[in-house]
Amino acid sequence: MTRRSRLLLGLAAVACGGAEPAGSTAAAGSSTGSSSATSSSSTHGSAAEGTTAGGSGDASTSAGSSGGSTAADAGSSGSSTTGAERPCAGVFPDHWIDGTDCSEPEIMVHAYDDDTVILRQSLCTSFEGPFLYLLFGQDRVLLEDTGAGGIAVANMVGTVIEEWLAAHGRSSIELVVVNSHAHGDHVAGNPQFEGLPGVTVVTPSVAGLSQYFGIDSWPDDVVQFDLGGRVLDIIPIPGHQQSHIAIFDRGSGLLLTGDTLYPGRLYIEDFTAYRTSLARLVDHVDPTAVCHVMGTHIEMTQTPGVDFEFGADEHPDEHVLQLDWTHLLELKAAVDAMDTPQIEIHDDFIVYPL
Ligand SMILES: [Zn+2]
Repeated sequence: MTRRSRLLLGLAAVACGGAEPAGSTAAAGSSTGSSSATSSSSTHGSAAEGTTAGGSGDASTSAGSSGGSTAADAGSSGSSTTGAERPCAGVFPDHWIDGTDCSEPEIMVHAYDDDTVILRQSLCTSFEGPFLYLLFGQDRVLLEDTGAGGIAVANMVGTVIEEWLAAHGRSSIELVVVNSHAHGDHVAGNPQFEGLPGVTVVTPSVAGLSQYFGIDSWPDDVVQFDLGGRVLDIIPIPGHQQSHIAIFDRGSGLLLTGDTLYPGRLYIEDFTAYRTSLARLVDHVDPTAVCHVMGTHIEMTQTPGVDFEFGADEHPDEHVLQLDWTHLLELKAAVDAMDTPQIEIHDDFIVYPL
């Protein structure tokens, strides 16, 4: 059976209403986390020992699979609290696939916690090496981004969903595919999902997002989207690209910032919109609820202020994925201070107006 047909099977029953929600599993165990971590120290540190190997396709990795040792099972070694009192229960891998060995899988799957999976596309398939996020609720699962193309992303996502369903005693769940923004390296896999039963692909445009999420006044309105026991804030943040959104998951403390903020070159198409969007983010999000600020690429090395060359398809010793609230404040302050948009190198990102 191909993985594609398995995806169809896994999602086919959704339209009929689906099964009884099993008790939703809260994030990774009962850890209290360490509540130390100043905001900057987490940036260059190795985040966690709990790691899952990259899944090359089948059931080797999953979110909270009962059989395997997943990152979520590995405990709270990577936990940290960022500017807050809340425990941050998810874990990061020691390193992501980085293109230095092209026997690596085309997509690495990492269970951040029982209900949150981070996927990374191999740089061997696209130098963009984008990250994708899969957020499970009781009623639906949201996929943010579909990669840069050239990978069987729908098959892999289907496999991960099947494993989550099996681990939770469920037979189906609706999948909502959303893009952080409309650039090609984030939407290329969308067609693989279109037309699949139980799958909604939200058109990555201002009109498409506004209609699906009920955003009356783009970009000023922030709206909530409930996955079932997991409410996400959908925050319009145009600037890098017109139809860019951030997703804030206050339950897990994850703030997903797409290409607006990540450890790399922060290309800005519309400087005024970008500046306003950063203010909107800072105004809306409660910093005490933020564990990690995570974008969709890594382009910085572990050396502060040094990035990989544009187009580099190998990232030895790359920066960690996760940033924190202080990086958002640092970016906002830098952008606010610019009378004239200009390239400005910071330790963990580069402001890059176009
Ligand atoms: Zn982009």
